[in-house]
Formats: sequence, structure tokens, C-alpha cells
Amino acid sequence: MSKRGPDTEEYPRRVFNTVKRPKINHDDNRPWLRLSHHSYTVGWICAVEPEHVAATVFLDEEHEGLDSLSSKDNNTYTLGRIGGHNVVIAVMPNDYGTTSASLAARDMLHSFSNIRTCVMVGIGGGAPSPKHDIRLGDVVPPLFLQTAVKALRTKYAISGHRLQEAISDVLEKHPRIAKDYKQPNPNTDRLYKAHVIHPNGEESCAAICGDDLSNLVERPERKENPVIHYGLIASANQVMKDATVRDTLAENKDVLCFEMEAAGLMNHFPCLVVRGICDYADTHKNKEW
Ligand SMILES: [Zn+2]
Repeated sequence: MSKRGPDTEEYPRRVFNTVKRPKINHDDNRPWLRLSHHSYTVGWICAVEPEHVAATVFLDEEHEGLDSLSSKDNNTYTLGRIGGHNVVIAVMPNDYGTTSASLAARDMLHSFSNIRTCVMVGIGGGAPSPKHDIRLGDVVPPLFLQTAVKALRTKYAISGHRLQEAISDVLEKHPRIAKDYKQPNPNTDRLYKAHVIHPNGEESCAAICGDDLSNLVERPERKENPVIHYGLIASANQVMKDATVRDTLAENKDVLCFEMEAAGLMNHFPCLVVRGICDYADTHKNKEW
């Protein structure tokens, strides 16, 4: 059997590291490690470039890019190590949606055939309810890959998740991205009552919907942010922007969050979906979160 290699005509050489982003190992003058494709066992799929940047700065070390195994692979990759794992981070080539996600997963598996676990980290629309006090910036994973998630849940219940410290550490190390990647002002987290509809147009909620308490769901001040919620994430190929449907699904199905890629990914292999809440799956708009 002939060996598939990057230098054959069928699989032309292509360098992955085309994205401008913070470099990790430069401070201590260590040369970047160069591993083989087979050394990577964890895949991490990001929907958009800002998520790719955020993922990259959380690497313990970044590895040198590798030539592609497949000329048909459209992903852009960053390689590195987190904890004890060699991780491939890919940003989807096209746009949001289940089809893009499944194509990205397929290409990644072609190029990195030893990947056994995949995480899909991105944004989602929260479904706050009397049962689940979900706020912007909170994190939602499903109770999937049960053992791993349950172990994490137990650990966080005992000693806290330290997410805020981890984020502060990374932003201190990469001050150039701090402005765009730090947590927005909590005052801009407004949950409007379901009947309050944002009028068509791009105007912000601050200008249009306002801070009138009769329009807002009253919520107590939080002691710790963000909170991690464990439960059902609903996946569709279009954006959920309807507070009434959101509330119905939250009540009847106990949905915590809506997103747009996981269903496509799940068709390929089991994948842990983690979502940061950026809106409330209603008509309102905010660009900060
Ligand atoms: Zn609004």
C-alpha cells in the first residue's frame, strides 16, 4: 500500500498557519515543537475567528503547523497542547450552521485520523427560566460524555471553576486582545420580558428598548460569574430569535440554550458541545457579548 504523504502530487503541500494571532512560545525562546499528524487526539472546532483566537491563547504551548494530508481540507488549524492533550483547533471555513460544522469535522478527521474526542466551543442563545438563572457570559455544556462532564461538575462544585481567574491570566499575558475579549459590563446584560419585542432595525436595546424596569425580568445580583449550567442544548440550522418559542421549549423540554452547529457535528462523531451565552434567543440585539 502506498503511503499517503504531503509531498505527493495528489496531496500538495499546504501550510496551515495563515491566521494572525498571538504566539505562545516566543517569550522563552523555545523552538516550537513539530509533531506528526498522528500525535493529535483531541479536536476543537470553532465557528468563527474570534473563537479561534480565544482557544489559541488558552493553549499551554503552541506547536508548529503541519502540511496538510488532504488538499480538500478547507480548515485553518492551530496545533498545541492543553493539559496532557495534543489538540487540533480548527476554525470553520464558511459560516455558522450545521453543514459547515459537519464539513469542518469531516476535513479534520481526514487530516488527523487519531482524533478520538471533539469539543465544539462557541456561542449560543440562552433560555433563562425560573429553574435556570442563565445570564450572558454563562457557560452551558450538555450532560454528554457523561463521565468526563460529571467529574468536572463534581470538582467545580467542591472547589469552584476558577474561570474568571483563568481568563484574567490569559488577558494579562496577551494585553493586545484584552479590549475585545474581556467580559462586557454586566449592566449591558438585559433580559426583556417575552412580550417586549425589539423593533426591526439595527438600533441597540439601550437606545430603543431601554432600561424601564416594567419591561425587564428582575434578577438578583450575582456573586460569582460566569455560572456553568449542565443540560440540554438545542441545535438548529437557523438562529432562534423568538422569546415565546424559547420559553415553550425551556418549559416543555428543559432546553437551556440554542445553537447552530452541533447537530451537523454529531452526525460524524460524538462531540462535547460547550456554549457561552451571548444573547437570550429573542429579538433583542447586543454586540458586546
Ligand atoms: Zn431590544
